[in-house]
Amino acid sequence: MVARAITREEALHEVASAAPATVYLSDEREMRFFLWELFEVDRRLLGLFPYEGVDRDKVEQLLKKARTHAATLAEAFYEGDRRPAHRAADGSVVIPEVFRGLWREHLRDWLWLRQQGDDLLIHDRKSGRFPHIVNQVVAELFTGANPSFMTYAGFTPAAVGLIRARGSELQKQVMLEKLSSMEWDACFCATEPDAGSDLSAIASTGRKLDGEVYAVRGEKRYISAGMHPLTGNTVYIVLGRVQGASTSALSLSCFLVPRFWREADGSLSPNHVECARVEDKMGLNGCANTHLVFGRSGTSRGYLLGNKANVALLQLAALMRKARIRTGGMGLAMASSAYLHSLRYARERVQGVPFDQSSNPKAAKVKIVQHRDVQRMLLEMKAKVEGCRALLGRISFHSSLIQHFINKPQPESRQVVDEEVVRRHTRLASFYAPIAKAYVSDEAWNIVTSAIQVHGAVGYLRDRPLEQYARDIKILSIWEGTNYIQAQDLVRDKLGFGRQSLVMRDFEEEVAQCLGKSAEFPELAPEFQRLSAALADLRSTLDCVAEQADQARLLEISQFCTRLLAMFGEFIVGWNLMEAACVAAKRLRELAPSDADRPFYRGKIKTAKFYVHNILPGVGAKAAILKAGHASYVEMQSDEFGFH
Ligand SMILES: Cc1cc2nc3c(=O)[nH]c(=O)nc-3n(C[C@H](O)[C@H](O)[C@H](O)COP(=O)(O)OP(=O)(O)OC[C@H]3O[C@@H](n4cnc5c(N)ncnc54)[C@H](O)[C@@H]3O)c2cc1C
Repeated sequence: MVARAITREEALHEVASAAPATVYLSDEREMRFFLWELFEVDRRLLGLFPYEGVDRDKVEQLLKKARTHAATLAEAFYEGDRRPAHRAADGSVVIPEVFRGLWREHLRDWLWLRQQGDDLLIHDRKSGRFPHIVNQVVAELFTGANPSFMTYAGFTPAAVGLIRARGSELQKQVMLEKLSSMEWDACFCATEPDAGSDLSAIASTGRKLDGEVYAVRGEKRYISAGMHPLTGNTVYIVLGRVQGASTSALSLSCFLVPRFWREADGSLSPNHVECARVEDKMGLNGCANTHLVFGRSGTSRGYLLGNKANVALLQLAALMRKARIRTGGMGLAMASSAYLHSLRYARERVQGVPFDQSSNPKAAKVKIVQHRDVQRMLLEMKAKVEGCRALLGRISFHSSLIQHFINKPQPESRQVVDEEVVRRHTRLASFYAPIAKAYVSDEAWNIVTSAIQVHGAVGYLRDRPLEQYARDIKILSIWEGTNYIQAQDLVRDKLGFGRQSLVMRDFEEEVAQCLGKSAEFPELAPEFQRLSAALADLRSTLDCVAEQADQARLLEISQFCTRLLAMFGEFIVGWNLMEAACVAAKRLRELAPSDADRPFYRGKIKTAKFYVHNILPGVGAKAAILKAGHASYVEMQSDEFGFH
């Protein structure tokens, strides 16, 4: 194992040294559009508690600093891949050496911002609280620059929130401060050799020792950043069962198992958590994906979260939702850079003549950006990157408002009103979460494959980041619940098989605000019509699903869950591109004919039009398939696939 890792390292190191300096690309102008024009963060959020200490200048300064840090992270992008994390002969876990320095710098300069990911943190007036939507942009810069590195301590802010909200006083006392300061980190341990999507198969157990303390036994696989030398201790959030509990997924419990146990005198002693293996995998190679064994070489002590058994799924819902949104964000971050690389390359590479000049031997050669098929790919990438960023932006915008409403000092008379407002924002944010995880991760993969295609052979080589993006991105459709599990969550739990009208009502109200602008923008009339028709398709498809559910035809529904989620993803992207097109159309009316910003805004309108006429019709096509309800999948038997 060790010998093989070194051989591979050596072979790949030469490639790493020859790598071009600019690995990660981000578009500053686009980020400004996203924050200040599309979501109007200064007008709609910055004046509100707890963000009043922050203004547009402060945000711009933060982003400038974040871009500098992202450039440093990006310098280690190849290194994290070419020098993969592995298990050394003495059982210790080795991570890319360069991560140690990055970690120190990251904590020194960015810990305070990561702490703001903890929703219940008391408002810090001195440093100013940035809305989630600003953190989204910073997170995009960092994860796009070095996704492997950013997996370390990735769960820690959410774990702090979890323990603050659900932990007992003792658990808070032992862990909160250490986790908040990231002296310790946390990771999430659900998967086992026989329990992946099916959490009811989890076999890890906790036997009560004393008070809140249990002896935890079991094996967890693939645990991201599960063991490493960056922090002094790691808290494993372990899904298991209190000994004797039933085997249903509803009787899972959550144990907090530190790698090193803090004794009464404050010293740390080994807690018998072993790393049996670090996986040798396709991508995210700098991230140590560990096979962990608890309680084999001695007792692994763990706290039962909140000292409450059988309620793990309820306790962990917020943490898992955050992890899913973060997954979508990782996909977007890499996909966006891949798109920008493609755009830059297509503007440089000269190849061939325009299609209508094919038989003209004197025709001038053109840059490939002028070929219509390359434009098709670039437009599709641009539309999806911008649309997916806006989808994630919807979630972080709702979260920013939730943060405002739950923290703001208010007279009692307002409380009832605000509670309903918070419930609405929460419903919408959690409705978008599975779509953001699954649709964005699937599209990120599609975008990167298009980016490779635009580059031709160059895209296939290892001296560009594209093939690494492809390898790094692929896991995103698998972890944190596969994309099918997300689709099932959307259709069954969020939409109640088409019978949950409340969240659809909220959603339609949001979309109606966009559709209501149609009279103001006659130049976009055909596009508004198509958007409206696609919304009707979503509605009628859900009616059809509800009807099938009423007739207990659940297997038929299950064959369409993935496509239903894709329909929502496609629609939400189209809707947000139309919002952007409206902003752009308005700006174009105001700008002087010679203004240098005009092409930027024209591009927004053309992108929306391209998407609405070329990709949005996919919603209607899927609706027709679903409504026709051909049960081909349900009827297919395993042996009918052939190949025995
Ligand atoms: C790099 C990496 C990092 C990871 N990090 C972590 C981590 O930090 N913590 C952690 O706990 N886990 C982690 N995982 C594990 C990951 O979450 C699981 O792999 C994932 O949940 C899927 O489980 P599985 O691999 O067993 O696939 P399976 O559950 O076996 O699924 C295989 C296929 O069958 C489909 N399928 C399964 N059940 C159904 C069903 N009922 N209906 C329809 N289709 C179904 C799935 O959608 C999938 O396509 C990681 C995995 C990797 C590779």
